[in-house]
Amino acid sequence: MEDRRPYWNMEMETKLNTPGMKEVQWERLRKKFGDLYETAPFWKSRFDRAGATPDSIKTWEDYAKRVPILTKDQFREFAAGCEFDMVKILDGWMGEAAKGLVCVASTSGTTGEPTPYPLDKADLALWTEYTARLLWRSGVFPGDRIMQAFGLSMFLAGVPICMCIADYGACTIPVGAEAGTERVLSYSRLFKPKAMMCTPSFAEYMSEKAEEILGAGVDSLNIETIICGGEPGAGIPEVRNKIENAFNAKLFDMGAGLGCSCDYPEYQGMHWLGDDLVLMELVNQDTHEPVPLEDGATGMAVFSTLAGTNLLGFRQTLGDIMEVFTSPCPCGQTGFRYKVIGRTDDMLKIKGVMIYPPAIEGVVNRFVPRVTGEFRIVLDEPPPRVVPPLKLKVEYGEGIEEGALEALTDEITEEMHRSIKIRPKITWIPPKTLERFVKKKKLIEKTY
Ligand SMILES: [Zn+2]
Repeated sequence: MEDRRPYWNMEMETKLNTPGMKEVQWERLRKKFGDLYETAPFWKSRFDRAGATPDSIKTWEDYAKRVPILTKDQFREFAAGCEFDMVKILDGWMGEAAKGLVCVASTSGTTGEPTPYPLDKADLALWTEYTARLLWRSGVFPGDRIMQAFGLSMFLAGVPICMCIADYGACTIPVGAEAGTERVLSYSRLFKPKAMMCTPSFAEYMSEKAEEILGAGVDSLNIETIICGGEPGAGIPEVRNKIENAFNAKLFDMGAGLGCSCDYPEYQGMHWLGDDLVLMELVNQDTHEPVPLEDGATGMAVFSTLAGTNLLGFRQTLGDIMEVFTSPCPCGQTGFRYKVIGRTDDMLKIKGVMIYPPAIEGVVNRFVPRVTGEFRIVLDEPPPRVVPPLKLKVEYGEGIEEGALEALTDEITEEMHRSIKIRPKITWIPPKTLERFVKKKKLIEKTY
């Protein structure tokens, strides 16, 4: 193999999570604050209301104390004030810079109005820089071919990342999740990509369908690298093993910020690759008090755009709850690490115990192949409060006798209790009954 440098950006990536980087961040943070204050009406009025002016932000403490955190609810209020007119929203968000947009993406909007990700040329450069660092660390280099099987429509990892891949010098094959499993698989056979980008649930689904569509396992495609994002599956050891074994490929996890997992055999979380591009902080989800970025700290992630124009907002949160690790990763690569524990929107409270769906997914997947790994959380009332027991619908595995299910119920319930302190009520359903998703997976079924 060719001898390559360890990082795409040797100047910045060697400095990640160091005091030297803190200085780069501070300089960019102050400049960005000043720019937004001067040019973007929405931000100026927000900062003014909080008493945060460029003169009053002289230290990191000033910043943490004065600059308010933009929550999803506050964004919705702002959007409602603009009568949900996206053009007005973008003008307020970016000011004059909105005239220079080259692409827009947004959150999925499943829990209300979508939050936009506006990209002008500077934001696209930011996103390209992150994509380049991520691809390089995942062993995908300029000249390689990448099957793009994320949802292309409005997803930041969809069309925008295709533009970034082109800029990086790799070749994107933009089939997209919308085109369906058959096309993604058959075009992969035709174009022989080295890497594939998709959600973990889509990767799992492809591995289930490959035999039927290709007449061979999904490993026959000889894909070396799979880059997953959009949902937490790639960070769940059992899901990860399932995908890596089926494809005979290495799986990397991206998303919920500027992260990418490493190729250390045991999942270590995602390394944060962009200290100089976007500042990530943790805060307490209720009080918004800062949580120091220390090994093992947990909190709600807050982002401030440092490079680009305003791709991820300024002290904006999308409600991701993360655990961070600042100790060196055994893989030896730079960047503190984070694991996504869940989203504030998905939180369930069962007898005072806070729980997020990915934790349940992790436990269910420990029982593959006796279960398929597919399940739903059935809610009779709006979350977060759940009257116990939590109801789960779980698919049993192929070839499992109905008689064996009672014992399996006991085993899973015990394991849930041991590892996440809940005793769910399990209803068994036959394999392949639940809908499979090519884009984001829905783990919750509402009966209310
Ligand atoms: Zn690592």
